[in-house]
Amino acid sequence: MSDECIFCKIAAGEVPVEKIYENDNFFSMLDRNQSHKGHSLVISKNHFDNTLELPSTLGSELIDCIKKTTLKLMKEYESGGFNLVCNNFGIAGQVVSHFHVHIFPRKKGDGVRIYE
Ligand code: AMP
Ligand code: ZN
Repeated sequence: MSDECIFCKIAAGEVPVEKIYENDNFFSMLDRNQSHKGHSLVISKNHFDNTLELPSTLGSELIDCIKKTTLKLMKEYESGGFNLVCNNFGIAGQVVSHFHVHIFPRKKGDGVRIYE
């Protein structure tokens, strides 16, 4: 755990959040910047800077957390699809250097632009 990492603090329970779903190695929550309704994050419980540091053995748990979270979001926000985005390193837009995947539930005409 990094003392300065906000996602480590959340994972350790030091900053309370409402979790959408969790398993042994991942949890999910709404992104605090709701530029789009339902925008959520799947976050590793342990600190890995990015995808390259994430052990491959955690792959199935990662997919489990993505799927369970997305199914809940799609139901709650009545969306018909979703985008997954994972920024890696600052040059690619990563601001929080702790592994996470963005989920964007999508609706027709929602105006969400995933690519610049
Ligand atoms: P990224 O650019 O991929 O590193 O995105 C980091 C995301 O984390 C941003 O969308 C932020 O809005 C979100 N974020 C940062 N701090 C928090 C927090 N305390 N609770 C919820 N979301 C957060
Ligand atoms: Zn961290």
